[in-house]
Amino acid sequence: MKIAIFEKENSQDYELRNKITSLAQEHSIIFDESKPDVVFFIGGDGTFLRAVQHYLDQLDRVIFVGINRGKLGFFYDYDPSSVEELFSQLVEKKLSLHEFSLLKGEFIDEEKEKKIYAVNEIRIENPFHTLISDVLIDGELLETFRGNGLLVSSSLGSTAYNKSLGGAIVHHSLSCLQFKEIAPIQNRELHSLGNSLILPSSSRIVFRGHLSNVVIGYDHLICQSKNLKEIAISLSSKKVRVYYSPSHTYLSTVRKGFIE
Ligand code: NAP
Repeated sequence: MKIAIFEKENSQDYELRNKITSLAQEHSIIFDESKPDVVFFIGGDGTFLRAVQHYLDQLDRVIFVGINRGKLGFFYDYDPSSVEELFSQLVEKKLSLHEFSLLKGEFIDEEKEKKIYAVNEIRIENPFHTLISDVLIDGELLETFRGNGLLVSSSLGSTAYNKSLGGAIVHHSLSCLQFKEIAPIQNRELHSLGNSLILPSSSRIVFRGHLSNVVIGYDHLICQSKNLKEIAISLSSKKVRVYYSPSHTYLSTVRKGFIE
């Protein structure tokens, strides 16, 4: 087995790295940062998003396991004090493997087809002017939206930006898409859905309009496309695999993350 450690830039925890290195040596596990089988990501949920983008081309092989530093995260069951336990469960093949589909965004940028992938959400936002966009689901018009932006979240991302917008928290085991409006204009004349809409995993959501001034956000990343006319969002066949503790329950993460 080959492993790698992934941390956010400028936030290296040398003590924890040394601990992982000596535990790896003890278990005859070698390091390979470029082609690992298991990636130990250290930090918070934002670190997981960055680790997935970093190893995007290797998701068929790589399995991620998180060591949380400080906060309780949705992608973590271990912290620096339980790294020994993590290593023995890894070696004894006792870890619980969870698999999640990434979101895919497709659009045309300078006459070239472009694809982006996200763990949490893909969104379009116009911070300066009212964004006007048709929302089509599987080819059928749902609404013509006016407001700040539009977002499609995965189950994993339901506790992130989507939750701040009042979207539903969706159990990680459910494979679906959640459509959510960002600050819709709603008055006597302008109507829009208001609530979030949870859609089957096969759905294809298209935002269509004059979108040249919008910013496309996907997880921690952003991009812009001149003359953007539409973006299609669906669940990708690309999957990300995460090791959790054998005693992991989704509800305990929600409880500890938001209630306790
Ligand atoms: P970031 O610092 O990496 O993340 C922002 C916050 O979102 C952090 O507290 C992070 O937790 C938390 N987070 C990320 N994914 C989560 C998930 N699936 N469930 C619960 N919490 C989660 O910020 P960034 O680089 O701008 O963007 C990354 C993410 O931030 C985006 O995918 C988006 O969902 C979220 N975001 C949220 C808002 C909002 O709530 N108003 C606005 C913009 C972006 P850690 O501290 O553990 O890393």
